[in-house]
Amino acid sequence: MAKERHPSIQTGPPRPEAAQTLLALLHAQGEVARLSEREQLYSSLLDSVNAVLWAFDWETRQVLYVSPAYERIFGRPASLVMADYNEWRDAIHPDDLDYAERSLAQVLLQGTVEDREYRIINGAGEVRWLSDKCYINQQREGERVIIVGIAEDITEKKQLEGELQRLATTDVLTQSSNRRHFFECAQQAFDRAREDGTPMAFLLLDIDDFKHINDSYGHPEGDQVLQRIADSGKAVLRRGDLFGRIGGEEFAAVFPGCTAQVAEQIAERLQREIQRLSFTYGQQTYGVTVSQGLTELSDQDTDLDNLFGRADAAMYQAKRQGKNQIVRG
Ligand code: GH3
Ligand code: MG
Ligand code: MG
Repeated sequence: MAKERHPSIQTGPPRPEAAQTLLALLHAQGEVARLSEREQLYSSLLDSVNAVLWAFDWETRQVLYVSPAYERIFGRPASLVMADYNEWRDAIHPDDLDYAERSLAQVLLQGTVEDREYRIINGAGEVRWLSDKCYINQQREGERVIIVGIAEDITEKKQLEGELQRLATTDVLTQSSNRRHFFECAQQAFDRAREDGTPMAFLLLDIDDFKHINDSYGHPEGDQVLQRIADSGKAVLRRGDLFGRIGGEEFAAVFPGCTAQVAEQIAERLQREIQRLSFTYGQQTYGVTVSQGLTELSDQDTDLDNLFGRADAAMYQAKRQGKNQIVRG
């Protein structure tokens, strides 16, 4: 560099010492300016990423460095965490603290831990999700262990994932579980019940003469009936029961830990609840009824389909017997 800038240094006649010193000084100043320029660049880079770069002394449990994003993401002064590592620990969501500590210690064995995700509660009391990757810094035998890391704020990504998950599992019209999600959860409940030897009941519900409602009042009106019936289902079922819309005007429920006898009481309540619903279309008022088929897990059932088949047969028997009733199969 110096050569290019001052080609005469090498080629010109020898200079007095003072001039040599001056040139050295100018050169050093140029270096300082370049370093400071580079530092500014690093600092603005660090500032613009939505992630905290950090360094931690494992033995002394001291935070050696946090980048400027720390204050933005944690909403706490960097000076405090530099003075006391507990500042960082205290910010971690109580439910995630154990995991965050264990996964940090894991880096000593693995050298790298890249799949750490945990929640913090920032200075404003908001929950934020962090992806906090960490690495052991290059070290020689006997040297102190420095862990470096990058903690990225992934709250928006997590929210988006949650929303996608909700969209993938929910029926848009009734906001209850869709067919696929319902059967996935039902299968898990079935496997658990078989493993633990606990009872489980399965219910199918089909709206009576629904086609007539659509034909008489129009499809949008039919949609409202579906929504109100789903609301009744959600209101009557207990926490831990599963409920979903598995077809056009067909719903299903699973009652883990319930015999058919107990589940029948819930089905009866639902039957009454639906009979009480009242709809108005212009000057007219009308109601709806449903037919339900109910069954329970038996020792012979090797597959969820066994229960589904029996509940379906029972439901069709209810239709044949005049609708608006519950049949046990
Ligand atoms: P049954 O008493 O024997 O069950 O007769 P039903 O008329 O209820 O049964 P059917 O299977 O003949 O008709 C079901 C109707 O449900 C036909 C279909 O157009 C309607 N349907 C399916 N999905 C929707 C929906 O999302 N919205 C509305 N409004 N109607 C739907
Ligand atoms: Mg049907
Ligand atoms: Mg029907």
